[in-house]
Amino acid sequence: MPASLRNEQGEYVPAPRANERGHRPCSTPTGTRLTITRQCTGNCDRWSVRYTGTVNTSRDICADVCTDVCADVFAYGPAGYRDLMAQLGQPAYRAQQLAGWLWTHGAADYDEMSNLPAVLREQLAEVAVLRRGNVLVRQESTDGTRKYLVQFADGVAVECVGIPDEPGTLPTQQRSPKHLTVCVSSQAGCALGCSFCATGRAGFTRDLLPGEIAEQIRLVAADFGVRAGNVVVMGQGEPFLNFDAVVEGLRIANGSDSQGGLGIGARHITVSTAGIVNGIRRFSALPEQFTLAVSLHSAVQATRDRLMPGVSGQPLSALADALIDYREQSGRRASLEYAVVSGVNDTPAEVDALCDFARRVHAHVNLIGINPIDRGCTGSGGGASAAPDIHATPAMQGAPGAPATTPTPAQRTTDAALRSVAATLRRSGIEVSIRRSRGADIDAACGQLAGRGRYGRPGADI
Ligand code: SAH
Ligand code: SF4
Repeated sequence: MPASLRNEQGEYVPAPRANERGHRPCSTPTGTRLTITRQCTGNCDRWSVRYTGTVNTSRDICADVCTDVCADVFAYGPAGYRDLMAQLGQPAYRAQQLAGWLWTHGAADYDEMSNLPAVLREQLAEVAVLRRGNVLVRQESTDGTRKYLVQFADGVAVECVGIPDEPGTLPTQQRSPKHLTVCVSSQAGCALGCSFCATGRAGFTRDLLPGEIAEQIRLVAADFGVRAGNVVVMGQGEPFLNFDAVVEGLRIANGSDSQGGLGIGARHITVSTAGIVNGIRRFSALPEQFTLAVSLHSAVQATRDRLMPGVSGQPLSALADALIDYREQSGRRASLEYAVVSGVNDTPAEVDALCDFARRVHAHVNLIGINPIDRGCTGSGGGASAAPDIHATPAMQGAPGAPATTPTPAQRTTDAALRSVAATLRRSGIEVSIRRSRGADIDAACGQLAGRGRYGRPGADI
């Protein structure tokens, strides 16, 4: 049955590790589809295993990985619930019933699922353990934005943010907002190491499971007491490096009430990528009309490589081609995210390059003010060296004998700098908006809250 995450004193107790629980044969039916990366918590602790496909495959790699991952109901999305029920010899409608309990009702235990036969509830508790996310930290900004640190069964925690409508006019403690946008994480940490990003500094921990992505939306909506109207995958992590789990998680979000989903329209779900080209191509081919945002941050290759070293292998020309094809294939336009870093990507040459790029791919540009990340929030990840100082010269970065990285935090972008870039773009006929900064007083930039403690890793001290 679900492992309790708190002891009698109300203190957090991490879920037992697989090898402490003892081995048990994986009881997830052979042939069940899963796509997961997990740190092995079994005997081969040093492994991080990515596998896609059937349970058999993972069993060949490490039985403990299989035990830990397959036995978690968050490993499944709508397609997985159908497979699971088929493998358990159940009619197809049971998949919707299960989804409804998980997502519409937010059941904490299989025992609550009163219209499922008792035998099936017992089987599910064995093969797909249900352990809801646990809100470790909840902060509320003066503008009503709330930021959460949500912890999952293995101790890993990620950030998500709830952004209500009517900033400034909303005493959110007193009433529910009319409209809620939820920003979710797709991975715990991120391997891409963008220089201005707190998540990038802390490094990568693991991919999230489909249900862990949907759980963030459910928890935030429940806290505000309304249904989420919009979802943006703009929290920690690179969604297209966890493509299948993100899409399954978003299918839970997009599912109608009768399907047991969270009822959020596909056009109201936006995925932001750092520009993983094959991910954009796969995204273009999805049947759902999810929307796409691309973090560009510079249309000059050398500058972009410095700001976003993790995608330096994905040239701007290939990115532009993928965005043009996206528009042709999906009939929708991507938007370009551009965090203005004074003196780095707001020079006339940079802004001209941005105009050319946006015109070529027919994209709208969202200008963002940099939320400075402070020196103290590099987390436990040892990933700081992957995040070069954006003000350092390229020759300094990683040079033999260079001093250990002590990244200088980017300065907060001034309103004047944002307005000036916006004006130049508008004069060139580019559609542009300035994204308002919400929740700056609660570290609402990606990765800043997780970076305050050592929450990102299994077994972290909390
Ligand atoms: N990895 C994906 C999605 C998560 S980041 C991506 O990079 O697109 C979501 C957005 O937050 C990105 O546009 C990212 O560049 C931006 N971001 C990260 N750190 C920031 C900061 N300190 N200030 C402002 N925006 C930031
Ligand atoms: Fe990763 Fe996005 Fe942060 Fe870059 S900005 S490090 S891609 S989460």
